[in-house]
Amino acid sequence: MSELNMMAKVNENGILEVPKEAMDKLGLKVGDKVSIVERSGHIVIEKHIDHCILCGSTENLLPPLYCVCEECAAKIKSGSALTSGANRIDIF
Ligand SMILES: [Zn+2]
Repeated sequence: MSELNMMAKVNENGILEVPKEAMDKLGLKVGDKVSIVERSGHIVIEKHIDHCILCGSTENLLPPLYCVCEECAAKIKSGSALTSGANRIDIF
């Protein structure tokens, strides 16, 4: 896979227009989410893929935030996701 290296401009509203070539390479469509990440002084724009913040699964994510899957939500609800010590998850 060849590396992408191109310029894009931020407009007066702070909007960054992603060149079509970059969109095609990342498989981005209008309306898709992207993640903007700082790594070692560089800003990296990645296609955002919703995933469960607890197990990493990309399936059966619950709306509206799509950040917890049905299985982890069920574990939390039943209390089986609670552990002691550093890994404790407090549910209020
Ligand atoms: Zn999960």
